[in-house]
Parts: sequence; structure tokens; C-alpha cells
Amino acid sequence: MSTETTTILKAARAVIDEAIAAAKKTTQDGKGIDDHQVHAERVAYAATEVAAAEALAAYATDRRTAGQGDDTTDRMAAAFAGEIAAKLRATIDANDDDFGVSSAVLDKTLRAADVRAAICSAQHESRLREIGRDVIRTRGANNAYIDGDIAEMVRDSARQFARKDVAPIAERIHRHDEMVPETILQAMRDLGYFGMSIPEAYGGQGMGNLPMIVITEELSCASLAAAGSLITRPEILTKALVKGGTEAQKQHWLPPVAAGDLMVGISVTEPDTGSDVASVRCRAERGEQSGQAGFFISGAKAWCTFAGRANVLALLARTNPDMKLGAKGLSLFIVPKEAFDGHEFAIKQPGGGTLDGTADRTPGYRGMHSFTLAFDRYFVPAENLVGEAGGEGKGFYLQMAGFAAGRLQTGGRASGLAQAALEVTATYAAERKQFGKAIGDFQLTQYKLGRMATHLAAARQITYAAARAMDENESIVLEPSMAKLFACDVAVWVTQEGQLVHGGWGYAEEFAISRYVVDAQVLPIFEGVKPILELKVIARGLLGG
Ligand SMILES: Cc1cc2nc3c(=O)[nH]c(=O)nc-3n(C[C@H](O)[C@H](O)[C@H](O)COP(=O)(O)OP(=O)(O)OC[C@H]3O[C@@H](n4cnc5c(N)ncnc54)[C@H](O)[C@@H]3O)c2cc1C
Repeated sequence: MSTETTTILKAARAVIDEAIAAAKKTTQDGKGIDDHQVHAERVAYAATEVAAAEALAAYATDRRTAGQGDDTTDRMAAAFAGEIAAKLRATIDANDDDFGVSSAVLDKTLRAADVRAAICSAQHESRLREIGRDVIRTRGANNAYIDGDIAEMVRDSARQFARKDVAPIAERIHRHDEMVPETILQAMRDLGYFGMSIPEAYGGQGMGNLPMIVITEELSCASLAAAGSLITRPEILTKALVKGGTEAQKQHWLPPVAAGDLMVGISVTEPDTGSDVASVRCRAERGEQSGQAGFFISGAKAWCTFAGRANVLALLARTNPDMKLGAKGLSLFIVPKEAFDGHEFAIKQPGGGTLDGTADRTPGYRGMHSFTLAFDRYFVPAENLVGEAGGEGKGFYLQMAGFAAGRLQTGGRASGLAQAALEVTATYAAERKQFGKAIGDFQLTQYKLGRMATHLAAARQITYAAARAMDENESIVLEPSMAKLFACDVAVWVTQEGQLVHGGWGYAEEFAISRYVVDAQVLPIFEGVKPILELKVIARGLLGG
């Protein structure tokens, strides 16, 4: 790590630690976050940015240590550290009373002359232009060094598949709002992509989270919805099953999920219940059908992505009607269903239960369709309650464990999509001419591309760091949530910056950047809409509560 980067990050870490300690006091160890939402959000976001800068700096160092040192990476690490440190100082200066960071600490850190000088030089526009020129020269190619031969091999093969088989049909699927074709699902089955992080004992590859993220990135670079998001749902269900399923359930469900024989949908959200998951109303009532013990599901669900094509839905439903029990009245079910390709479906069970689904039209994220569902006494056998009798009332916690894995995945999805935007923008900047030269020859375009690439590098490295941390401890929540928060914002911003560099053509459907923009916008919404992720997950994780 360059001395400049070290100086900046040491200062930023000291300040954010002090800000977290002060916010703990203000919120009584997180219990009063809702009385200080705006401040809690600021602390959560700043802490996430510092973590992203540290991840990028650690990556630059690792690269050098491995003999793969690269000046552009070092410049990026310094520039990003400088940018977030300047922002942190400005945020604290503007909200001094709330942050409660003492002048003594600030004077020794972010306001100190040597730190100020390091911040100014590290993120100087000339440095970012230099990075930008490199990005244009390499057309934005992702040659990020990955520690470990397996991950690198996995990336090469995923890239080849994504570019050869997914990219050519991505535009058509988006424009015609088609369902992801069977050819892609089959190829992903053949490549073993649905079981990458499922333990070998249950038919998966047991390769851990990093290869899974790397694959997701490559697929998302070709298409977020027609390939990049296909592993997320099995991931969420797998983590919930591994945590709370019985041995028999793991043996029964995980091998076909790993093989890609079972497509999965995740059904938590309801028309009137989104962020407040503990208030889910869809009911699961114990009963019997044709002598078989089970549950009758009744109620409405919303936004269930892939619910049509899915063979099973992981469904959160209320097994105890007492709403006062909140999260403790919820259980997680694996609900089998027939698969459909279209925008609507209707299922009638022999016993009379029904499930109807209608896809909601969306500007982007097309390829899997997201459905509003209506269940009416839809029968599910008792053994499909995750954890069986012991799992009753534990659905909320199992679902949250699944979401942590989903968020890590989404860090990879967001990085892949931002990568796609960077590549087309770098190419466009090199080829588009105005005022007699390539627009990439103008300083401002270079600066923009330099910042886009730098933010993307930070998003990628905070996600990889979270993947490694999750390999060590599957139960962590904070790291994947920070990765999701940051990477999704980067994807939104990078795609929009890329669109601006494309000028009017960035708004034309025939240029892929217009698809990337609408696809990216969904990323901060699902798996905990951004404000909820910041307050209820990251701020709580940092402050307690
Ligand atoms: C394309 C798409 C696909 C999706 N796929 C799935 C899926 O497969 N399965 C699934 O279950 N769900 C899915 N979702 C749903 C998604 O997870 C929810 O939309 C999300 O959790 C937010 O819920 P909501 O839309 O009801 O928003 P709300 O909960 O109504 O929140 C709206 C806004 O209100 C504010 N707000 C709410 N509560 C608070 C609070 N306590 N403090 C401060 N501000 C607050 C925030 O600004 C928030 O952004 C999908 C959504 C979309 C758009």
C-alpha cells in the first residue's frame, strides 16, 4: 500500500471508529436508531465506504505481494481512499454535533496537514484522468487479479460462456420481455453453476463463495436478468436450508437444486408488506388432505421473481395467526409447483387449492419476470416446512440467513453490471468523435472513466472480501450487506455516468447502456431496499440493537 493510501486510511479508520462509538452512545447501543435515523444512515454509509476503500487498498497490496503489482490499481486505491476521506471530512464538518468526533481526533487525522496533502494528491483530477486513459486504452477490461488458480479458471470459463451464449441474446430478451431460454439454463446446469457453493455432501461443488461471485459477475456482465441473477435464488434457499433444514430435507432438496433440476423462486414480499417482513400475513394453516398432514397456504404475495418458471417457491408464511407474535409467528416452506414460461399462470390442485400468478411489467430486469401471486388453500405437505416441526416459528430467521447470502450475490451482480457499463463506455469514448477528436481525448471524459473504474474496483473488492469472510463464517451479516449496499449504488451511478458519455445514443434501445441503466435501478431495491438495509441491517450491525 502506498504511504499516501496508508496515511489516508489510517485517518479515516480512526475517525469512523470514533463516529461509530459516538453513535452507539447517542442511540443507546443501537436501540434508538429510529430516533436518529438520518444520522444512523450517514454513519452506516460512511463506514461502508471506509470498508470499501480498505478492501481496495488491501487488494492493491496483495497484488504487489503476489508479484502482480500494477500502477493503475495502486492509483485507484489511493484515489478512492482520498475521495471517501474527503467526503467523510465534509460530512462531519457539516454535521459536527451529530457525529460527535472530537476536535482532538479530527486535528490529528482528517484535518491534519499531512493527511490533507495526501488526500489532495491521491484523488487529484490528473491522477483520475491517468486512470481514465488506461481504462479507455484497455476498453475497460476486467483483468482484476484473483488469488487462487481455481477462481481465475472459473472466471475465464464463465466469461467465455457469458460472452458467447448469453450476450448475443440479452438484448432480445430485454426488448421483448422474454423468459430466459432453456438453452441458457441447460448450459448453466452443464457447467455446474447452480451448485457452486452448495456443500459437496449435498451434490454441490463446495467451492465456496468467491468462485460463485466471480461467475455471477461474468454472467451479469452479459445480462443481469437472463443469466446473472439465476444463481441468487438457489443460493438464498440453500443457505436457509443449510442453517435450518433437517438432514432429510437437505438430502432431499439440495442435490436437485445444485444440479439445476429445480428452479427456485423466493416469496417473502406481499402487496402490503415489504420492508416490515415481520408483518407478513400470508397464512399457512395446519390440515390434512387425502390423509396426508400438511398446511393450506392462503394469501397474496408480490414481486416473486421467477415464480412462473420456478419448480419450487421458498415461501415465508404465518403459521401462528396471532399478529402480535410478529416474526416469531412465521415459518419457511418449500412449495412445489408446475413450471410456466409466460407472464401469467394458474394452478389448480386435485384437492381444490389454487395458485395464480401475474407478472408485473417492469422497465428493466426482464428475463425472469416478477409475479404477484394469489394462494387459496394451496396444499403443502408437512415435511416441506423447513426444519419440520422444529422449524415452526423460525422462518424469519432462516429467511434472513438466506438474504445475507443473497446480498453477497448481489454485490457480484452489481459489479458485473457496472463492468458491462464501463466496457461499452470506454469503447464508445474511444470511437465517438466530436470537435475533431475522440471524446475520450477530452479531460472530463477521462476523469469520468477514471472515477467509474475506481468505484467499480472498490465495489468488486468489498464484495470479494465479503465472500472470503463468509467462507470463514457463514453467519456474518454486516460484510455482505455493506458489499450489497455499496456495489448496487456503484452500479446505478456507473451506468448513468456511462449513459451520459453516450450522449443521446445512451438513451437509444439499440445501445446496451440504456438497458444497463434500467437494470441497475432495481439493485438497491430488493433484498432490503436501500434505506432499510442501511438502518435495520448495517447500522444495527455497527451500533448494536
Ligand atoms: C423487480 C423486483 C424484483 C423483486 N424480487 C423479489 C423476490 O423475488 N422475492 C421477494 O420476496 N421480493 C422481491 N422484491 C421485493 C423487494 O424485496 C421489495 O420491494 C423491497 O423489500 C421493499 O419493499 P416495498 O417495495 O414494500 O417497499 P416499502 O417497505 O414500502 O418501503 C418503501 C420506502 O419506504 C421507506 N421506509 C419504509 N420503512 C421505513 C423505515 N422503517 N424507516 C425509514 N424509511 C422506511 C423507505 O424509503 C423505503 O424505500 C422484488 C422487487 C422488485 C422491484
